Amino acid sequence: MKNDFCIRCGKRLSADEIGLHKKLFNRAAAEFMCIECCAAHFDVSVELLENKIEEFKKMGCTLFENKE
Ligand SMILES: [Zn+2]
Repeated sequence: MKNDFCIRCGKRLSADEIGLHKKLFNRAAAEFMCIECCAAHFDVSVELLENKIEEFKKMGCTLFENKE
């Protein structure tokens, strides 16, 4: 997987964080932010975004299924 580092802080990203970014910004995004930077960007808590990831997974969102 390419570009799997946060464009703001350089942290290595998990598949969940990449899926979250795609969901929040753009499915076709090629650059991603980690969950902390997404939270800062939207001025929400990391916990809220973690809950969102769980929600998306429960909804069966394919962005969160396949790593690589
Ligand atoms: Zn970051």
